[in-house]
Amino acid sequence: MSDTLDSIEIPQSSDGTRRFLFEDADIRGEIVHLDAAYCEIIAIHQYPLAVSRLLGEFLAAAVLLSANLKFEGTLILQARSEGEIPLLMVECDHRLRVRGIASGAERATSNNNDELLKCGNLAITIEPANGQRYQGIVPLEQGSLSNSLDGYFKRSEQLNTRVWLAADGQQAAGLLLQQLPPLITTDEDQRGQQWQRVYSLASTVTERDLCQLESEQLLYQLYHEDRVRLFEPSDVSFNCSCSRARTYNALITLNPADLEELLEDLGSITMDCEFCNQHYQFSRSDLANVLAGDKTKILH
Ligand SMILES: [Zn+2]
Repeated sequence: MSDTLDSIEIPQSSDGTRRFLFEDADIRGEIVHLDAAYCEIIAIHQYPLAVSRLLGEFLAAAVLLSANLKFEGTLILQARSEGEIPLLMVECDHRLRVRGIASGAERATSNNNDELLKCGNLAITIEPANGQRYQGIVPLEQGSLSNSLDGYFKRSEQLNTRVWLAADGQQAAGLLLQQLPPLITTDEDQRGQQWQRVYSLASTVTERDLCQLESEQLLYQLYHEDRVRLFEPSDVSFNCSCSRARTYNALITLNPADLEELLEDLGSITMDCEFCNQHYQFSRSDLANVLAGDKTKILH
């Protein structure tokens, strides 16, 4: 491996994603580790461990998919099911800021992903800051996100792409492998063999190793016979994109008569952000313009 650790380097946050490249095959990869960001998200809610683990896998996957895209905007993974997690949703933007919820899953009792996300569908949405929104929907196969993403990649990517995911309630991690267009190896059979070998070795990784090993250690364990170039990490952080202005802009879409009724009943209107638990309170005077029919959005 050509990467070396600089002993005087200031320690990086352990929340990060690192790209790697095979020097002798047209294959790239990405390893994500979420530690503090994952714990911060989990700490906001009171989820059972099985739900926290799934949420961690979704967060890791969202980072892997975002890092794989060259765009400005947000990638959203949204699972809807008839199981004990009716809605699981995570977002990651191009600055690798993540947030996530498992809505309605605080009282889930099952430890089985298939039960938790029974008859579920996974929607993968790419929302560019400017431009057309893209959405792909695949079934959630046996509650397994990585299997479902395989189905998604088969449909949407020209090149072989696979992910491995793990989360233990404290750490979440993921590994992505993707074939690149032929450059180093042009022979199709040889390309196929290279992919098969690299893929088979990745399939030996345990959830524990994926969560606990540093990127260097993991790559050494899997690919010490290969020349692999590991790039510097990009930081990932928890950040909720909610704001008072956004909440106000959501309120102006409601019927002024309904707002008036709420104000009469409650004195003020409080909107809670499900992602971060932030409360936004609006008094009658805050909403004077809306009540008068003014639907002008505010920016800040
Ligand atoms: Zn929020």
